Parts: sequence; C-alpha cells; structure tokens
Amino acid sequence: MKCITCGEQYGLDEIIYTCIKCGSTLEIVCRPDVSKDIFNCRKSTMWKYKEFMPVDESKIVSLEEGGTPFCKCQNLGDKLGIELYVKVEGSNPTGSFKDRGMSVGITKAVELGVNTVGCASTGNTSASLAAYAARAGKRCIVLLPSGKVALGKLAQAMFHGAEVLSVNGNFDEALETITALALEGQLYLLNSVNPFRLEGQKSIGFEVVDDLGWKSPDRIILPVGNAGNISAIWKGVKEFHEAGFIEDLPMMTGIQAVGAAPIANAVRNGKNSIEIVTNPETIATAIRIGAPVSAQKALRAIYESNGMAETVTDDEILDAQKLLARTEGIGVEPASAASIAGLIKLVENGEVDKGEQVVCIVTGHLLKDPNTAINACVEPVEIEASVEALSKIINPR
Ligand SMILES: *Cc1c(COP(=O)(O)O)cnc(C)c1O
Ligand SMILES: [Zn+2]
Repeated sequence: MKCITCGEQYGLDEIIYTCIKCGSTLEIVCRPDVSKDIFNCRKSTMWKYKEFMPVDESKIVSLEEGGTPFCKCQNLGDKLGIELYVKVEGSNPTGSFKDRGMSVGITKAVELGVNTVGCASTGNTSASLAAYAARAGKRCIVLLPSGKVALGKLAQAMFHGAEVLSVNGNFDEALETITALALEGQLYLLNSVNPFRLEGQKSIGFEVVDDLGWKSPDRIILPVGNAGNISAIWKGVKEFHEAGFIEDLPMMTGIQAVGAAPIANAVRNGKNSIEIVTNPETIATAIRIGAPVSAQKALRAIYESNGMAETVTDDEILDAQKLLARTEGIGVEPASAASIAGLIKLVENGEVDKGEQVVCIVTGHLLKDPNTAINACVEPVEIEASVEALSKIINPR
C-alpha cells in the first residue's frame, strides 16, 4: 500500500485506512506481469482478472459478482448523436457495483482473521457488506443516516442479518463515527476509504475495455458520491494500459447532484482540493455526500484523463431515469441515472462531441428505491374483471 500524497509504503497486512505519516489516502500498487491471453475461456465474473486482485486466491469470498451486461443503447445513442453503451451494475448479486469491492474487501477480512466488519452507508454499501459478511460468517455492523436510506437497501441489510443502526445525522457524520470506532480496533472498516474496496471496483474498468474488444472508449461517465468508484475505474483502465492491453485511455467524467457537488465545484474552479458541502441534499440518496473520502483520487482521475465533472438537478435525474427505463428497458435507481442526465447535459452544451463512443456506468438497480419509482408514475386504474370494462379502457372511443 502506498500513500498517494507522500509516497510512504505499508505492508498489505497492516490494518490502516489512511497514511500514518501525512493522513492522506492509500492506494494499492498492483503490477502483475501477465499476458491478457490468460483471461480467455474464464468464467465472466470479476475474478476473471484475479491476477490483478491483491488477495490470497484460496480465500476468495465471491457471489460471482461482475461480468455485468454491457448494453448498446441504439435508441438513446441515435437521439444524442453518439455511440452509447451502458454498463448495468444493477445486475450484480445485491444489485449494485458495491459487490465488486465487497468481494475483495471481505476476502481481505478473512485473510486478516478479523471477526467484525462494519461500514457507514447511504444504503448499497450496507446491503452488499451484509450479504458478503453473511457468506464469510462475520459479524456485521452498519450505520445508516436516519430516514435517508432507500427501502430496498434497508431491507437487504436487515435481511442478511447485519446489526443495523440508524444514526441521527447524515452519511458524512455516520462515516466519521464508525471510522473512529475502526481506528480503536473495534471493527474492520469496509467503506471505500479501505483501498481493497477499490481493487474490486477497478474491475469495472477492466470489463469495459474487454467488452469493447480491448479498446478504450472515448469517455466513461458515472455518478460520483464518496468518489471511490471513479477513482477505482480510472485505476483499472490505467493498469490495463500500463500492461499494454489497451492503447488509449478514456476521459473520466463524474456527475454529481447540484445539492451535493464538492467535486464538480472543485473541477469547475480548477482546484486540486474540495470544499466540503455541510448539508448535502438530493433525491439520489446514494450520492448524497458532502465530504467524499476519495476526493483527491477522483480529482486526479478527472484531471489526468482530461475528463470533466458536471452537476444535474433532481428533476434532470428523475427524467433521465424514466427515459432510460422507457427507451432502453433499463431500470436503474436515481443516483445511477445521474450519469445519463449528465450525458444529456454535456451533449446539449457541446462538451461531448457528436460520434463520441461513451460508456455510462449505471450503478444500482431500479428496485433499490421502489418509493421514488412509484411516486414518478400514475397509479394503476382499478377496473371490474370484465372484458367490456377492460376494452373500454384500452381502446377508448
Ligand atoms: C455508492 C454508489 C454511488 C457512488 O459511488 P462512489 O464510489 O461513492 O462515488 C453511485 N450510485 C450507486 C447506486 C451507489 O450505490
Ligand atoms: Zn502520506
């Protein structure tokens, strides 16, 4: 493990989350010397790329995460004048990309021999951790911001047997609290500040270039909350670039909600650090975060890749969620739709060129947040169980 700021190095078995010398974020250095031919004929899960995962192969805890659909979106792409693909992360075992990170994170927990794992979560991290902890037989503590977690995610965390605690405060405050507990050694922290999480999530980058026949797309667009995923995907494509598997690199493009946009604000002002948003607010609860722990990595990803960041309103998010569901048949939760909303805005502003090859990462499944979905629709019409009544409604004269 290496500090991204001062370069200090640490062993892979040290239980630390930030640099002891300077307090900055850690990253795992991973440079296997392999040919991409070894991936041929392997099952399509994220462990297809196991040589790039810094854990003991004999201890892997997996639900066969990764290998998610990579759907070409002809209708929406034509409408926008681009070549559009959507990577459907809602197809992971618990319905979000968090499973990729959790598979590596829990494997590490098994390697380290810890008994208790924990996280603060806007929902999906807790749903995923609860499932993987159950599979590994670990005690699991999750802290959720009271009243701000979508119903499907809460159901998952509780049903998989996590000890679920509702915190009077937002996600940032919950994370601060559980981090302090982890630093006392009371549990192993599996938020994305834990660099092993990002090692799993970098496989999204691996799969995108593999799906495209070992080519980089022009651009990857995704929602940004705690900023782990954009950092991880960039790390993934860079590793495959350094290994010589691909020639080019994508422009990393992060989308945030207007009410929770510390990274987009920093990029807009050309800054190398963020200003914390103290009361983040958006309907997209998965990105309702004001103090992203991977901000520095994310800013580096955006600047190094010549990418950009944009903000979208809640209405734009909800419109994009419906558009994707109704023109392509792909159902995603609100945060995921931020990537599509951002794409539409960037095309309208001329910042994404016509003909660009764009991959949007849609991060979580529609059913994660059933309330928002139902509220966005008209209620079903009640009718008698008769042919006459039904005909009148479907073919009114
Ligand atoms: C966690 C999550 C995000 C945000 O990812 P970060 O790594 O925190 O930036 C976006 N969408 C969904 C559905 C998520 O679960
Ligand atoms: Zn340091």
